[in-house]
Formats: sequence, structure tokens, C-alpha cells
Amino acid sequence: MSTPVHRAYIGLGSNLENPRNQVTTALDELNQLPHCRLVVASKLYQSEPLGPLQPDFINAVAALETTLSPLELLDQLQELEQRHQRVRHEHWGPRTLDLDLLLYGDRRVDHPRLQVPHPELTKRNFVLYPLAELAPELTLPTGIALAALLAQVSPDGLRPLASSIS
Ligand code: ATP
Ligand code: CA
Ligand code: CA
Repeated sequence: MSTPVHRAYIGLGSNLENPRNQVTTALDELNQLPHCRLVVASKLYQSEPLGPLQPDFINAVAALETTLSPLELLDQLQELEQRHQRVRHEHWGPRTLDLDLLLYGDRRVDHPRLQVPHPELTKRNFVLYPLAELAPELTLPTGIALAALLAQVSPDGLRPLASSIS
């Protein structure tokens, strides 16, 4: 029997050390993770930071196909963050690369290391708008349509940039 392939959505963010380059490089690296294939990526977006005073972020969302389990995928994402020399200083503080597992098929995961859908997904314009570029018809595992969330979350402070893949 062949291993099932799952569609996962990854949120990327960076606001240190050439953020555009961090994010575009990370998209390429996501495609090279074991048992993962990059299907499509959104444009890059510039967003105003949450939390402490810090530079604007560059964000994007990527769709992956993977045969990894959600926790195996999280391990891979965290290793990739480490390869970008991410140092955790403060929660929501500046970082060279942040990779959040937003969605994993229709699965819900509630594990000490992993919650899927990502708990903040429904509130963040820098996640919802790029995600809608890739999957406008998407419905979350909770039954809420992405279109309904977009109607509630303003794009203020979010600026689309050029395509993420040249
Ligand atoms: P936020 O989660 O609000 O975006 P953050 O990205 O700054 O904040 P991190 O410091 O990157 O938070 O991650 C803290 C922990 O969150 C990680 O060690 C990881 O185990 C856990 N985590 C839980 N759910 C997820 C998820 N869906 N994707 C990525 N990490 C997650
Ligand atoms: Ca995050
Ligand atoms: Ca994170």
C-alpha cells in the first residue's frame, strides 16, 4: 500500500538579515525537505509586526505535499529554522525565519508541541490573504470558510510585493 500524501500549508515569516532572501531561500529549501514537495507559493507580503517594536516582516504561505506526519513535518520545519540561525529571544520578537504549520489536510492536532490548525491563523491578515491566493475555496477543519474569515479581517498594514518565485 502506498503512503498517503497530505497537503500542508506553511506560513513563512522573516524580519532580520535580508528577509526577502530568507523567505525565498526557505521556499526552495521546503521543496528539498525529505518527503516534501513544494506545490505552490503565494506572493511575498510585507506586514507590520505584532508584539515588540521591530522591523516589518516579509511573509508568504506555501502549499506542500508530504508523506511526513504532522510532528515529523514540524521537526523538519524547526531544523530548517535552525539552519537559518534563528535564535529565540522573546515571544513574537524579531527572527530570521519563522515557519508555522498552518494546516495539515483536514486534520486537527492538539499536542504539547503542535496545534493544527495554527491557533492564530484565523486572526492574522498576513496568513489569511496569502492563503486565499493559493486556496480561495478552502474551508478549515472547523467548518469555517476562508472567505468568511477574510470578510472579518482587514488587510490594513499588509502590502503585496512581487512574486516569491522568480
Ligand atoms: P505564534 O505561534 O503565535 O506564531 P511564534 O511563531 O513566534 O508564535 P515560536 O517561538 O516559533 O512561536 O514557536 C513556539 C512553539 O510553538 C514551537 O516550539 C512549537 O512546538 C509550537 N507550535 C505549536 N503549534 C505549532 C504550529 N502549528 N506550527 C509551528 N509551531 C507550533
Ligand atoms: Ca509564527
Ligand atoms: Ca513559529
